[in-house]
Amino acid sequence: MRWILREKIEEFKKGVLKAGWFAEKMFKKAISSLIERNANLASEVVSDDDLMDQMEIEIHEKAMEILGIFTPIKMELKMVTTGIRIAEILESMGDRSARIAKNALELSKEPPLKPLIDIPKMADITSKMVKESLRMFADADAEKSFEICKQDAEVDELYERVKEDLLLYMMESPRYVKRALLLLEIANFIEEVADLATNIVEATVYMVKGDLYKCCHDDMVAFKKGGGILFESSD
Ligand code: FE
Ligand code: FE
Repeated sequence: MRWILREKIEEFKKGVLKAGWFAEKMFKKAISSLIERNANLASEVVSDDDLMDQMEIEIHEKAMEILGIFTPIKMELKMVTTGIRIAEILESMGDRSARIAKNALELSKEPPLKPLIDIPKMADITSKMVKESLRMFADADAEKSFEICKQDAEVDELYERVKEDLLLYMMESPRYVKRALLLLEIANFIEEVADLATNIVEATVYMVKGDLYKCCHDDMVAFKKGGGILFESSD
C-alpha cells in the first residue's frame, strides 16, 4: 500500500508543477501581449484562464482521493496540503494574468502612451520569482526563500516608481488618463503576482521546516504559532 501512496504523491506533485508551469507561461504570454501589442495573444491568455481554473479543481480532486483512501502522514500529508494551497495560489495568478491580458487588449486599440521600461522590468523579476518559488516546492528546498523575498521588495519599489510616473501623465492631459490607468492596473497585477510567488515560498517553507514564515518587505519573518512575530531573521 505504501508504494502506491508514494506513486500517487509523485503523480500529484507532477500535477501541481504542471499547473505551475502553465501559470508561469500565462503570465509571460500576458506580458508579451502588452509589449508586442498583440491582441491575439492577449485573447489566448484570457481563454487560458478557464484551463487554469480546471487544473485547480483537478488538483483538489486528486488531493481528496489521496487523503480519503491512503490517510497519508508526515511529509506525504504536508505535500498534499501544500499542493492544495499552491494550486489555489496558481489559480489566483492565472486570474491576474488574464486581467493583464484584458488591459493589454484595450491598450492595443490605442496609440502607445510611452515606451515601456519599468513594467517589463517588474515582469522580468516576477517571472523569475514564480519560476524559483516553484522550483523550491519541486525540490522541497527552503534555501532560496530569502532571495525571493528580496526580489519582491524590488518589484514593490518599481511599482511605486511606475505609479508616480503614470500619475504625471494623468496630470498632464485628460487624453492620457485612460491609457495611464490601464497601465497602472497592469503594474498593480504584476505586483500581486510577485506577492503570490512569495506565498508559494511561505507554503513551501512551512512544508519543509514546519515553521510559519511571512515575507515582509524584504525579509522572511518568523511567526509564533498563535500570532505575533517570533524573531526577525538576519541576512
Ligand atoms: Fe481563474
Ligand atoms: Fe509585494
